[in-house]
Amino acid sequence: MLSRLTPARLSRLYDESKEKMPPSDRAQWLDGRLRRQVRFAYENAPAVRDLLDRAGVKPSGIKTIKDLEKLPVTTKDKLVKLQQSDPPFGGFLAVPLNSLSRVYVSPGPIYDAWGMERITSIVRGFLRSGWPKAGDVVLVSTAYHMVPAGLVQTDALDMLGCTVVPAGIGQTELQVKVLHDLKATAIFSFPSFTMTILKKAEEMGYDVRRDFNLKYVTGGGERHIQVLRKVFEEQYGLIVGEGYGTADLGTVAYDCGLGLGYHYEDLDCLVEIVDPETGKQVPPLQPGEVVVTLFSRVYPLIRFGTGDLAAYTDEVCPCGRSAPRITRIMGMIGEHFRVKGMFVHMKELEDAMSACPEVTRYQMVLRLEDHRDRITLKVETDPGVDQTALSEAINKRCQDVFKLRIDAVEFLPKGAIPAEAKKVVDTRW
Ligand SMILES: [Zn+2]
Repeated sequence: MLSRLTPARLSRLYDESKEKMPPSDRAQWLDGRLRRQVRFAYENAPAVRDLLDRAGVKPSGIKTIKDLEKLPVTTKDKLVKLQQSDPPFGGFLAVPLNSLSRVYVSPGPIYDAWGMERITSIVRGFLRSGWPKAGDVVLVSTAYHMVPAGLVQTDALDMLGCTVVPAGIGQTELQVKVLHDLKATAIFSFPSFTMTILKKAEEMGYDVRRDFNLKYVTGGGERHIQVLRKVFEEQYGLIVGEGYGTADLGTVAYDCGLGLGYHYEDLDCLVEIVDPETGKQVPPLQPGEVVVTLFSRVYPLIRFGTGDLAAYTDEVCPCGRSAPRITRIMGMIGEHFRVKGMFVHMKELEDAMSACPEVTRYQMVLRLEDHRDRITLKVETDPGVDQTALSEAINKRCQDVFKLRIDAVEFLPKGAIPAEAKKVVDTRW
């Protein structure tokens, strides 16, 4: 358990006026921090030194955000390889390992270094949105093992001074009871699981508005949040907190409450939207890859490619904040996809399926059903296989490799899936 921050520390953590500085001041301020960060990373993280040396760029050659184009983007695939050849952090860690608060392991597998700075960044998000508040009782209904999800939120809630129920995922009926008995004010989970809890409550005869003290729920991690957001707001009268972040980076961007996109979290990182082919920054409203440079003294990733495709606007938001906004996340670039809040690499899917030799060809179909991600796996097999046993074997294998259940395995005769068919079809857009 992390200790609660003092009121003085909390008030230093969030300064709204800083977020509303004029765009030209903001650009200057960011350039200055970028120069210091690149110098720090070059001197303290061997992988960054190597990156610059190979590109033939000296730290003094990066003076502005535009200069970052001189450096290559480190993709998620590249990070996996760097971590494999130089475990655990591929040369990006700038502090001794045992000074980290937490080390998480995300699918890939990728080691994620979490220092206190990332957790305080989440606390800043709470202060910005005004909720949760110290004294709130929060149900954290997301995974606690390996991945930065439940524990990260618990750490931040501890620092703010909330009471946490580490509920995890599952046991929906029990979660409803706890929500009711403890008069919990917030659920932190993936929107689809929060929806499952609310639906279960209704099945159990509760009226969510009347019988609970629930005020806030979190969004994020799933693509269809905009659909669910409306339901949470209109049907249940809840406030929805949203942000954009990744396991490798922590918080990258946040919704100011107006639902007009995600402002760059520029105290913690510098965001570029770049052409995935050339690595050059694209103009506003053009799609490109979200590439992030962390202002971290712990894990100073430079130009890390998230694999997410997005567009941005630099128009000042009606809230007065000058940080550009990611207007929308459009999907994934290349070899990853995100489903049920988990990041899955194509290689992991191939790995899982290679252990099922009865399957001659397969195709995963991702759909949205009742506001939830649903995974169907179409498989081609020889006639006469034991479909129940094979279904179970496939599911076990998928859970072992990327921790996700397949909702339905559909058996098809040989030849039904064309050889050139995509391995993953995403119909959720
Ligand atoms: Zn705003």
